[in-house]
Amino acid sequence: MNTFSEHLTDAMAQRLLDGVLDPVHDAGAEAHASQCPECAALVESYRILGDALDGLAVPELAAGFTASVLERIEVAEARQARERWLAVSVLSGVLLVAAGALLAAGAGGLAATVSGWADGLAEATRALSIGRQVLPGLLAALRLPLLAGAAAVVIPLLLGLTRLMPAPRTQSI
Ligand SMILES: [Zn+2]
Repeated sequence: MNTFSEHLTDAMAQRLLDGVLDPVHDAGAEAHASQCPECAALVESYRILGDALDGLAVPELAAGFTASVLERIEVAEARQARERWLAVSVLSGVLLVAAGALLAAGAGGLAATVSGWADGLAEATRALSIGRQVLPGLLAALRLPLLAGAAAVVIPLLLGLTRLMPAPRTQSI
C-alpha cells in the first residue's frame, strides 16, 4: 500500500494542506491521508480552522494608536534620561563634597590632624608604657569615626553608581 507506518503528525497535516510536503520526510503522507479516515479528518480539521481564521476580520486599531505608543516611548526615554542625569548629579555632588572636605582639611586641618595623630601617638606611647591595655581601646575609639566617615562617602557613591546602571526593560517594543 504505502511506506507510511504511522499516522500523520500535526505538522505533516498542515504541510499537506499547504502543499509543501517534504519529499523525503513526508514521503507517503499524502497517500496515507487519502486512505486513513483518522488522518483525513485531521487534515480536514486544519482546513476548517484555516478557513475560519481567514474569515476573521482584522480588528481596527484605535484612532491615534501609533501616536499614543510613540508618546509612551518618549515618556519612558525621558524618564530614563532624567534618572541618568540624577545619578550623574548625585555622583558629582558626592565627589565635590569629598573634594571640598579634602581641601578644607588641607591647609590647617591636615596639620592639625597630623599633630593630633602625633599627640595621640605620643599619648598612646605613654599609655603603652603605663599599660598595654590602652592601645586597643584607643584603636577601638578611632574605628567608629573612621567607619562613619568612610560610610558617609561610600554609601552615596554606591547609590549613585546603582542609579547609573540601566534599568531593565520591562517591555520590548
Ligand atoms: Zn493515519
